[in-house]
Parts: sequence; C-alpha cells; structure tokens
Amino acid sequence: MSARILDGAAVAAGIRRRVAGEAAELAARGVVPRLEAILVGDDPASRVYVASKRKACEEAGIGSATHQLPADAAPEVLAALIDRLNRDDAVDGILLQLPLPKPLDGRAFLDRIDPAKDVDGFHPTNVGLLHQGRPAFAPCTPAGVMELLDAAGVTLAGARAVVVGRSEIVGKPMAALLLARHATVTVCHSRTADLPGTCREADLLIAAIGKPALVGREFVRPGAVVIDVGINRVEDAALVARLFPGDEKRREQLTKRGYVLVGDVDFEAVRSIAGAITPVPGGVGPLTIAGLLANTVRAARLRRGL
Ligand code: NAP
Repeated sequence: MSARILDGAAVAAGIRRRVAGEAAELAARGVVPRLEAILVGDDPASRVYVASKRKACEEAGIGSATHQLPADAAPEVLAALIDRLNRDDAVDGILLQLPLPKPLDGRAFLDRIDPAKDVDGFHPTNVGLLHQGRPAFAPCTPAGVMELLDAAGVTLAGARAVVVGRSEIVGKPMAALLLARHATVTVCHSRTADLPGTCREADLLIAAIGKPALVGREFVRPGAVVIDVGINRVEDAALVARLFPGDEKRREQLTKRGYVLVGDVDFEAVRSIAGAITPVPGGVGPLTIAGLLANTVRAARLRRGL
C-alpha cells in the first residue's frame, strides 16, 4: 500500500483564489483589506518570510506595507509603532515577524497588538476564544491544516488524533481546533513516555516537532492520516542519502544549496504504511501564508461589521 499524497500547494492555491475573490468583493464596497508587517533587525529568513507574505498579499488584492526597525530598536519605539498601527483605521492586520532580536520580548509586543487586528492569532484574547471553541483568528499554520484535512475529506468527529508538539504557534492551537471538531485529542511533547506507542493509536497523526524525520514507521498505525508540519534544514549528506535513497534531485539540491528541507516525518518509510501523508515541501508549508491572507480579509470584514 502507498499513501495518498495530500497536496497542500493545491489546497493553498484554492484558498488564495477564494480570498482574492472576497477581497475583490470588499474592494467593490470601497474596502481594501490591509496587512502591515513589522520586521525588527535583519535576520535573512525573516526578511524572506515577510517578502513572500507581501507578494502573496499583492496577488490577492490585499494592501500591504513593511515597517523595518533596526536590530537595536528601543522597546519604546516598537511599542509606539504597534500603537500607531492599532489606531490606524486603514490597517486591518498587524504582523510582528518573530523572533525579535534580543533583548526584545516577543510575547510582550504580541500582547500589545489590537486583538481585532491580530491576524496571526497569537494575542491572549484570540488564544482564549480559540480554546472556548469560538475562534476569531486561529493561528495560520494549524488553520491551514484544518483546511487541508477538510479538502481531503478526513473525518474528524470521533477520530483519534495525536498531535506531537505543544508550541503556542502550532501544537496547542492544532489540538484546540481538532477538539472543536470533535476529535479525541492527545498532545505529546518531549517528556511523553512511549511516544511511538502513543502515536500508533492515532487515526490522525500531526507532527510539529522540529526534528528531521523523527516520526518513523513504528509511530504509524496502518492507514492513518499523517500531517507533517516540520520544516528542517538538513545539511548531512549521509542522512539525506538514508532518508531519500536514490533521489538525485535532492542530492543535487544539497550540493547546490548546502541543505535539503526535511519534515518531522520519515516520508519514504511512512508513506508505505500511512493512508495519506503530506510531503515536505509542498504539504503544510504553503497553507500558512494562505491562512494569513484569509485572516486578513476576515479582519477587514469583522472590523467593519460586514
Ligand atoms: P517548537 O516551538 O520548537 O516546539 C516543538 C515541540 O516539539 C515542543 O512542544 C517540544 O516539546 C516537542 N518536541 C521536541 N523534541 C521532541 C521529541 N524528541 N519528542 C517529542 N516531542 C518533542 O516548534 P514549532 O514552532 O511548533 O515548530 C515545529 C516544526 O514545525 C518546526 O520544524 C518548524 O519549522 C515547523 N513549522 C512549520 C510551519 C509551516 O508553515 N509549515 C509553521 C510553523 C512551524 P517540549 O514542549 O517538551 O519542549
């Protein structure tokens, strides 16, 4: 048996088309949804993320801007910028790109964002609403996973779901969203005893760990749906060769870029036992930005009572 491959890129493209349609409807009523990003410092990965979010906004008919602050920006300057964007009625979504350079405390600044503009879903008000089963803005990655599961026709009510990872960004909100859809949810983490055995109970296994290919065959019940949220850079040629035997494309990538992207699931080993599986790249990754766009248009509507 070989698992059905769940195409996150295709689902993300569908969400982006839907969002573009909603943005066009709003524009016809004189409202252009607007997302403004704050980038502190010059972390290259953060720059790339912010640039790709802006490009996606443009394609969907969402206005956008980036506010760049130096790495040594005073906390008062960042606070004043957030306050200004909170007050600006033309701004629907505020995105604070994390991580912030030390000693700035990301949590304190996320707490400062107006919950009505918190399109990342990280403000305690939105976290609380999510856990009460009445989300305003769910964090974009787990919200995207829910869209993927729905598009794939995966039954959630009554299903046994195991989420590995308990971060605020992925694991915990993922568990809350699944619980709201009546799955029976177990959350695992680094102290979980018998991780493979617990994971084997899952009809739906979600890996959000940050450890390349940790989830092997022994974690998976035959026929289970496996969602791999992990994105890890692997530079070790021997590991790449072991994970993707005979894969010339990945070998070339390693030589050219110096790394290969690997999920938290050992894809080649698990695909022969799972019922369905997401690849890395092309699985969960593209859904995150799509979720951000969807949340921004939703913010534009909710803020105006539309
Ligand atoms: P994180 O904040 O580092 O959390 C990792 C979680 O995994 C923690 O709860 C940790 O447990 C648990 N963990 C670590 N090692 C473990 C082990 N050996 N066994 C069991 N559990 C273990 O990471 P994150 O932000 O949630 O991200 C997780 C992965 O998803 C990363 O690869 C990240 O790059 C990726 N990601 C992808 C997207 C996307 O767009 N697709 C978005 C966000 C993140 P403790 O709590 O006990 O430490």
